Amino acid sequence: MSESKQHQHILGLNSIAVHAGTIHDETFGGVNTPIFTSTAIDYRVEQGPVPYPRNFSIPNHDAVARKIAALEVGESCLVLSTGMSAIITGILAVAKSGDHILMQSNIYGGTLAFAHQFLSQHGIECTFVDDITAGELSKHVRSTTVLLYIETPTNPLLDIIDIASATAWAKEHGILTMIDNTFASPINQQPLKFDCDIVMHSATKYLGGHSDIMAGALIGSEEFIGKCRSIASIYGMSLNAMDLALLERSIKTLGIRVQRQNENAMIIAQFLNQHHAIESVFYPGLPSHPGHEIAKQQMHGFGGMLSFSLKSKNAIDRDAFLNRLSMIAVAGSLAGVESTITAPIQTSHSLLTEEERLHMGIHDTLLRLSVGIEDAKDLIHDLEQALQ
Ligand SMILES: *Cc1c(COP(=O)(O)O)cnc(C)c1O
Repeated sequence: MSESKQHQHILGLNSIAVHAGTIHDETFGGVNTPIFTSTAIDYRVEQGPVPYPRNFSIPNHDAVARKIAALEVGESCLVLSTGMSAIITGILAVAKSGDHILMQSNIYGGTLAFAHQFLSQHGIECTFVDDITAGELSKHVRSTTVLLYIETPTNPLLDIIDIASATAWAKEHGILTMIDNTFASPINQQPLKFDCDIVMHSATKYLGGHSDIMAGALIGSEEFIGKCRSIASIYGMSLNAMDLALLERSIKTLGIRVQRQNENAMIIAQFLNQHHAIESVFYPGLPSHPGHEIAKQQMHGFGGMLSFSLKSKNAIDRDAFLNRLSMIAVAGSLAGVESTITAPIQTSHSLLTEEERLHMGIHDTLLRLSVGIEDAKDLIHDLEQALQ
């Protein structure tokens, strides 16, 4: 072992979450990155693009971008105004008119809406693929295919895609892979280690973690992120200094939040799995979940998201159950410190036809639970009394 190798010390994810990217406070010696709110900035002091917040050229952007890049073991990161900004920017940075994209079919509804409604306006063709396997992908690949777009675990059934086999197939065909890593967070899954080229996050979810900011992130090579920065500057997708600072603060506790959410979700999944009023539980941490073995290989933890269906198939029983919950909030979005629950049929998947929903396995009494950091015993107490 070389001298330098011997002394190389690799930081753990909690240390990275707290310390990476912080800008030293030269005015005051404080431990936090100062907040730089100016939109009018002396343009003679900087190299490169004119310093202006819309160009992402403010210190609060760089501080949080460096933190997220370090957590995802990526070269570079761009932090944007929403997860959708990140998705659209990432896709448009790869694909141009005449190109073709392969897209996993059971992904986030907003991504599907963008693909269905707007990709054709850019002259980009898209094929939706149900099974992300080499055999299925090879049936749909074209000479013009430039991107494979995947998401794992998925919403709401927590399907698991085998990232390493997807990227191996894509590499063989000279195609880039972009992954939505929102549900896992970098604490549970680091897709660049499995050869993905581009990672995106809705930072509105785990990275933000307190249900009070919207943001998005793209992680990839320096060159790719440079391209994204040019696109998103023109389209006006940057995030303001206040929210960047809030996001930086939030990520400092990402490791302990997600670890607690992993633990709570496992306890709740096991509780629901043996409850007489529950038909099935979808959680990658359960050995009965079809994606369990792959999840064990590519995830450090199984995450804080789970879904379950009631034995009753009656929407009235579902609504009565939701009304009886007292601590768990019936609310859209996910990944906050507080537990929230939704009926996907009323929220994320309300715009689908009945046929499309049933094709995806989404029934009237399927419920999606985003497990918070409360005490597991209190969450179970709430579920138990509401199921009675
Ligand atoms: C919420 C979400 C998005 C979109 O992010 P916004 O911040 O709402 O724009 C994308 N992907 C997944 C998996 C999400 O949960």
